[in-house]
Amino acid sequence: MEAVALRERLRAEALAMGFDVFGVAPVHADVRADYFRQWIADGMHGDMDWLAKNPERRTDATRVLPEARSIIVVGLNYYQPHPPAAYRIAKYALGADYHDVMLRRLKKLCGVMRTLGGDQKPYVDTGPVLEKPLAAEAGLGWQGKSTILLQRGFGTWLFLGVILTTLELEPSAKEAHRCGTCTRCLDACPTAAIVAPYQLDARRCLAYLTIEHDGPIPEEFRRPLGDRVFGCDECLDVCPWNRWAKATQEARFAPRALPDLRETLAWTDEQFVEHFRGTPVKRLGLRRWQRNALTVLGNTGTAADLPAIRSLLGHADPMVAEHAQWAERELVARS
Ligand code: SF4
Ligand code: SF4
Repeated sequence: MEAVALRERLRAEALAMGFDVFGVAPVHADVRADYFRQWIADGMHGDMDWLAKNPERRTDATRVLPEARSIIVVGLNYYQPHPPAAYRIAKYALGADYHDVMLRRLKKLCGVMRTLGGDQKPYVDTGPVLEKPLAAEAGLGWQGKSTILLQRGFGTWLFLGVILTTLELEPSAKEAHRCGTCTRCLDACPTAAIVAPYQLDARRCLAYLTIEHDGPIPEEFRRPLGDRVFGCDECLDVCPWNRWAKATQEARFAPRALPDLRETLAWTDEQFVEHFRGTPVKRLGLRRWQRNALTVLGNTGTAADLPAIRSLLGHADPMVAEHAQWAERELVARS
């Protein structure tokens, strides 16, 4: 089958499997390798050490799959128009873990590609690939000033999956860059983490600080954190391209009920795992959840929350204990 027909056959298969967008990048797509290396050299990845490992593999698909000829990028819309309101969890984490949902579908698509003679490697999030620049190279959209991928039909709310393949597919037409003079994401960021257009300092980003970062949240970021217990959507929520966002069709991404924050301070590890089983929040672990919950209660709680906060003042984990002290101080000062 010739390269265009093969691409269109696979697009039809991907859309039939429930993916919302599909594109193909050339195997030597420009993933802005110099920018990535500089970002790592500047330490902006914080303690996400895995990102600094093997930059050559991340920026050259043929180091991962030497016979690779093309790169498929698919997107799955996860937008939730009505998230629970008690406190905030990033929309991508409100329902089932996207890794499982995406990977199962990607493997199904790889199965079809195998019957067409291809050898494939599928990745969701954790692979040695730079999804966002690749998605832009595959014509899905463009990387906005917030560094997130924007797509004209779905805005910023796409999970991305990548398949390296030995099949020769015609690359998709690239999308124009459409941020224009807008700076809403830079202006709205509560911690000024988008230090310049297209430059995100993860060390200042609430998504990184509440999810990836393992130590105490630096004090300067605790008040700006507000009521965000897990992640941050601020730079996405303000993006004007999201006015065309549509609710996800994937039932497994429907928001689960949020637990009472105060009650979670008394949870055991088992209770935490039980509650968040099958969601992206589970990987956070109880101690980091409690660190974040204490910060949120310090910002938004009332006197009724003080007993639960005080019960953690002598916690065996110094990080949890210190965050409890901070939350108590903030709450007492406010009331
Ligand atoms: S996720 Fe939040 S903290 Fe991070 S860059 Fe966006 S607005 Fe700023
Ligand atoms: S908020 Fe504006 S500048 Fe930021 S990504 Fe969206 S369109 Fe681009």
